[in-house]
Amino acid sequence: MIQDRSPGRNWAGNYTYRARKLHRPSTIEQLQEVIANAPRVRVLGSRHSFNDIADSSELITLEATPMDVVVDHATDTVSFNAALKYGELVHSLNEEGVALHNLASLPHISVAGAVATATHGSGEANGNLATAVAGLELVTSGGEIIEVSRGEPDFDGFVVGLGALGAVTRITLDVEPAYEVRQRVFEGLSWEALFEHFDEIISSGYSVSIFTRWGETIDQVWVKSRVTDEPEQVESDLFGATAAAVDRHPILGLDASSCTPQLGRAGPWADRLPHFRMGFTPSSGEELQSEYLFPRRYAVEAIEAVRNLAAEIRPLLQVSEIRTVAADRLWMSMNYGQDTVGIHFTWKPEREAVGGMLVQLETALVPFEARPHWGKLFNANAATIAPLYERMSDFIRLVERLDPRGAFRNSWLEAHVLGES
Ligand SMILES: Cc1cc2nc3c(=O)[nH]c(=O)nc-3n(C[C@H](O)[C@H](O)[C@H](O)COP(=O)(O)OP(=O)(O)OC[C@H]3O[C@@H](n4cnc5c(N)ncnc54)[C@H](O)[C@@H]3O)c2cc1C
Repeated sequence: MIQDRSPGRNWAGNYTYRARKLHRPSTIEQLQEVIANAPRVRVLGSRHSFNDIADSSELITLEATPMDVVVDHATDTVSFNAALKYGELVHSLNEEGVALHNLASLPHISVAGAVATATHGSGEANGNLATAVAGLELVTSGGEIIEVSRGEPDFDGFVVGLGALGAVTRITLDVEPAYEVRQRVFEGLSWEALFEHFDEIISSGYSVSIFTRWGETIDQVWVKSRVTDEPEQVESDLFGATAAAVDRHPILGLDASSCTPQLGRAGPWADRLPHFRMGFTPSSGEELQSEYLFPRRYAVEAIEAVRNLAAEIRPLLQVSEIRTVAADRLWMSMNYGQDTVGIHFTWKPEREAVGGMLVQLETALVPFEARPHWGKLFNANAATIAPLYERMSDFIRLVERLDPRGAFRNSWLEAHVLGES
């Protein structure tokens, strides 16, 4: 088994892992041995989180274990090694003519890491990516291999596990027949039109993303629609916003060649649902991210509250994205129990100034019961977060039951979930 000295930094380069060892087991037996011998350990995914959620004194990557993708057409599921990235999984799904219900903004993220933090795409009827999980296999800190399936006791607590329950080794996801999607971008929507027609705009496609820099108008609305047998309605206007005549990058002015095709060209689901293509540097690369998700009934008020901070936000911001996510029953999901709107911020890499901005934003969003995205930057501590999660105490009991020796605990979990820092 190979062991590196140090895992280095996360994707954005804003966080250097403190772990002194990165284990690369190639079998489950080796993984069990590493976990049994480690006082404190975590599994590292594709390192796309912006905070220390994945850190510990020792880390494990599962990239050396066999990927072993199995599509089961009888149950409409696919199961595979948890280290797989969505972009890699898609190849096997395409070969079998099946698809996932949704994807995040880029396909480079590991499935296990995305599921562990309730990563989401957009679409008012689309649950986050963790809602596709039909089953999980994990190795606990006691070395036991546990399998859980949807419908079994505590399953809803296992899925968005924040890396705290054990090493997830295999994941089973729901699949459906492959489908095609068209993507169109509309530019220059007015704030008045957004506030007056929020529901119609956000439901104008299967997956809709609103990109803004909190200026005079909203920069872009990306509308992704599933191709059906019905003749396509080509709209040149969306409540006063005009259809873009060329492909766009979410950050106006950046080269769109890293982005998935637009202009209404129909294409496979996995080439349209993410904003960025596999094989390209996603997003702008040099960035920090934060996101707050709140009940959809507060959409207009919460967006207005953030807009009131536009003068402070704009100098630090690359772009914001507003999306919707359907309610689910996963205990630690930001979308638990409520249809949700998320306001996302891609910041310039100015950690200190962004930290100050997050304090202001979190204060402004208190009335809207905003839950921070677990994998992005935020300030709220466990005492502030606990009342936002109805099943928090059940989750903490599950953590204690599965990991009584606290091997998978880390300082992030103590500060933001357990409240022991
Ligand atoms: C450019 C960019 C775009 C993004 N776009 C989106 C988006 O569209 N929507 C959105 O919601 N989020 C988005 N994110 C956030 C991202 O999806 C989350 O931070 C996600 O957790 C990253 O997954 P990862 O594999 O990199 O996990 P890591 O950051 O490596 O780890 C995250 C957590 O998962 C745990 N984990 C990973 N693998 C396992 C395993 N096998 N077993 C147990 N625990 C495990 C880790 O221990 C840790 O707790 C984006 C991030 C970036 C950098």
